[in-house]
Amino acid sequence: MSDAAATNAHIAEVLARAAEAEEGHRRRALERAARAAMFVWVEEAADVAEAAGRSLTELTGVGPWLAGNIESILADPPGLEDLPEIRRGFLSLAEARAAMAAAPEFVAAVGGDLQMHTLETDGKSTLEEMVAGCLARGYRFNAITDHSKGLKIAHGMSEERLLMQGEEIRRFRSEIAGWDGGGAGYRLLHGIEMNLETDGSGDMDPDSLAQLDVVLGAFHSALRLEEDQTDRYVAGVRNPTIDVLAHPTTRRFGGRLGLRAEWATVFAAAADAGHAVEIDGTPARQDLPIELIHIALETDALFSLGSDAHHVNELHFFDYAVAAAILAGVPPERIVNTWPVDDLLGWTRSNG
Ligand SMILES: [Zn+2]
Repeated sequence: MSDAAATNAHIAEVLARAAEAEEGHRRRALERAARAAMFVWVEEAADVAEAAGRSLTELTGVGPWLAGNIESILADPPGLEDLPEIRRGFLSLAEARAAMAAAPEFVAAVGGDLQMHTLETDGKSTLEEMVAGCLARGYRFNAITDHSKGLKIAHGMSEERLLMQGEEIRRFRSEIAGWDGGGAGYRLLHGIEMNLETDGSGDMDPDSLAQLDVVLGAFHSALRLEEDQTDRYVAGVRNPTIDVLAHPTTRRFGGRLGLRAEWATVFAAAADAGHAVEIDGTPARQDLPIELIHIALETDALFSLGSDAHHVNELHFFDYAVAAAILAGVPPERIVNTWPVDDLLGWTRSNG
């Protein structure tokens, strides 16, 4: 691929803009292809176009009409000086996979995923399916982190349901030990994604959190405020019951810019509290963005990587988190997912 070739991210942006000028099925086809270019194609379209005997129609969502469109983009890539902020700073899947392919030791050091959901709240797969998917990906551990009661839309768990889930996980651990490939060294962790109020407090009885292996805290309300939210974040990262601030900015690709804060202050407060900030790999989140990871690296804040998968088919979202950490130059030892599980649990226990 030549240096001048348009990347999938570039193609996606051109297609998204073309969609805005169309109506009906062409608009939908362009929008679908734009999303596929970012989050589904595992190869750069430019590489497919240049390869002998291959066609752009091999790419998901690309028929002959779109293939023609993409060929013209590749032949003469339009300039994109004014990339809208709402779509800025996101990796395509092809970029994420390329970053991982270039850093195999880093990828191998990351032992497992610290955010995912199940049918217990708003996930679409069972606990068993998620664990089987994690084992298939070769993880040494993963944490189940369903939502807490304050997030009604996600059917968040009460303290009582959390306790029952804990019992189910304990039962399931002994079953996994008998699975092929499930026994040796794999650990299933029980966590939660706890709702944080705007004053930084959590919505669960701290006693019910004490039994958990990891506690993520996340803001899910008042996400479109334009005023500076530094105070909210500092209070959130100082909350002694959490280990990780999940999807910190709450941005969504094409949908929400995310909250504003003096991030250096927020990350310094997280470092001070001994807590981690998450790199959430959900493609439309990619939160923290790389530019904020750079700011966090200036402090002593730790990082936690999570797919935030809501289905077993979303476990690969983790790759965006790993790739962002690689591209931002995060030293592996700053990422709690690279630690031996006993060290990881020692850290979460020390957080109270
Ligand atoms: Zn969340």
